[in-house]
Amino acid sequence: MGAKTELIGLSKEELQKALSDLGEKPFRAKQLWQWLYYFGETDFDKMTNLSKDLRHKLQENFTVSRPKIVAEQLSSDKTRKWLLEFADGQRVEMVYIPEADRGAVCISTQVGCAVGCRFCHTGSQKLTRNLSAGEIVSQFMVARDTYGEWPSPTNEVRYLSNIVVMGMGEPLHNLENTVKALNILSDGDGIAISRRRITMSTSGIAPRIVEALQKTGVRLAISLHAPNNELRSQIMPINQRYPLEKVLQACQDYQAGDGSRYITFEYLMLDRLNDSPECAQELIGLMKKYHLRATFNLIPFNPWPGCAFRPSPNNRVREFAKILENAGFAAPIRVARGQDILAACGQLKSQKNSEN
Ligand code: SF4
Repeated sequence: MGAKTELIGLSKEELQKALSDLGEKPFRAKQLWQWLYYFGETDFDKMTNLSKDLRHKLQENFTVSRPKIVAEQLSSDKTRKWLLEFADGQRVEMVYIPEADRGAVCISTQVGCAVGCRFCHTGSQKLTRNLSAGEIVSQFMVARDTYGEWPSPTNEVRYLSNIVVMGMGEPLHNLENTVKALNILSDGDGIAISRRRITMSTSGIAPRIVEALQKTGVRLAISLHAPNNELRSQIMPINQRYPLEKVLQACQDYQAGDGSRYITFEYLMLDRLNDSPECAQELIGLMKKYHLRATFNLIPFNPWPGCAFRPSPNNRVREFAKILENAGFAAPIRVARGQDILAACGQLKSQKNSEN
């Protein structure tokens, strides 16, 4: 007998094909999809509306797995961080950031990252490999297991209400698997997280931005962090390949295709580097030049061991926000979460520094 196939991560069509290869009718694939993604069931024996014979065939041919939880930490503010391990021993981190009646799960798309943003802890861990669609989807399923949020809630009240693709890795460097994973996560017959509650964040891989959004229909966030090329290249080397003009042009093209969508620009506030009033004015000029409907997310920098940057003082962050707001842009200052367990934005890493 050949190796068993993992079911988590197969598209609906692939699942249908897998079952038809076993001689089963298409509606069986629908039932199985529901067991996997609506009920979160991992035990074939408990899939009671499937015949014994089919359950046996499934046991023989397939697996339904989750990554192993290697470590789990709960912050004093209830942010939770998991260190997850896949079948080949590779690891990623995932974070859940709760609000009063909802919350966002921050998932990873790669082990390490090749982009190497200088402010990012993950960026100091070189890229090992892309995650498969199943490995991306199953992270969220671990979060659902932890919070017991199965079957998928049918009302709007959910603990795990949002997904942010902002963990380890650059999703547009693993586009095919990320698209497939987001299509599974948002499928209405299963996990059913609405596409408008999913945000994909990119460092600005300009040629893939429009394609990525057309294929997923999710929200876009761009890690901007600087208002000009000179500064941006200093902290994000990827800017030399895809300078601001290319990134913002792609944003404009995207909005030309779907005028209703706002783009969130993430802006890390780094002490005496990108936090001056002149930088805020320059940012406004950029948005106007490219006619972008934009909101800003000002992120207080979360230091990690060995990093070269310091957070901007609060008064400078507030002044920066005010300038953007006065020009008509929403510019909320993100409240740092999970800092005590290194779960805040830019702090994720699944290897110790000595393992690089
Ligand atoms: S910020 Fe994102 S793209 Fe940049 S190094 Fe970190 S994980 Fe990679």
